[in-house]
Amino acid sequence: MQEQFKIYIDRLKNGATQKIDAQLEPSFMDIDEPELSFSAPVRVRGEAYLTDEHLVIHLQAAAIAERPCAICNKIIKTEVSVNNFYHTELIQEIPSAVFDYSEALREALLVELPLIVECNGGKCPERENIAPFIRSKDRSDNPTYFPFTDMDI
Ligand SMILES: [Zn+2]
Repeated sequence: MQEQFKIYIDRLKNGATQKIDAQLEPSFMDIDEPELSFSAPVRVRGEAYLTDEHLVIHLQAAAIAERPCAICNKIIKTEVSVNNFYHTELIQEIPSAVFDYSEALREALLVELPLIVECNGGKCPERENIAPFIRSKDRSDNPTYFPFTDMDI
């Protein structure tokens, strides 16, 4: 457990708040694949405090995901941010009264990943090369396909 991620419950008793303001090494994201990696530090800010029964962690975070453009496959950097994330944990279920928030932060960031990224701000220069192919394929395969026609509205 890395020190940066630790929240000591005893320090929060009597209404204290722990400020969180850190640049975290991205290794806690634990993802390093051709399709997705994180190499820049993850910026996180927020606070942790206790309610009667819960530890509450309130965070903002930003990371840089590196992923291939969906069209040309060039690796591009996409900012992934979490603006108003709350994680709560029952105090009595926190082992040794020390909570590591890295997993909660990791999941919060991964949820925000866009499904598809495209280079050049969504105007990949390779798009023109494949667009005519996509259009003609759609026409021949499904000339009159409208996905919502059968819905009962
Ligand atoms: Zn591209």
